[in-house]
Amino acid sequence: MKCFYCNAEVRWNNDYDTEDTYPDSEHTIVSMYNCDECDTWYEVFHQKKNNLNRFEEFIKQTNDKHQRELKEVKEDNKRLALQINDLEKKIRRIQSKH
Ligand SMILES: [Zn+2]
Repeated sequence: MKCFYCNAEVRWNNDYDTEDTYPDSEHTIVSMYNCDECDTWYEVFHQKKNNLNRFEEFIKQTNDKHQRELKEVKEDNKRLALQINDLEKKIRRIQSKH
């Protein structure tokens, strides 16, 4: 990245979590750059928090869906186990008659 004022290459200093530096920021990360040539300081805010929230919401919904499907599978298994149990009883009854 070039300096807006003197066109020299700016130097990256560090990335910070805005939770630690600017808690009110709408962004998640602030990158700090400075120009050694004219001593200009740049702070670049990126990763809008809304996008992150949407992503987290998507993860949560997917997770909930999987939990529901897992519950359905478990209920199906329980039903099948009961049916197997009934069939085994019938088989035993038939066998005892012979
Ligand atoms: Zn400069």
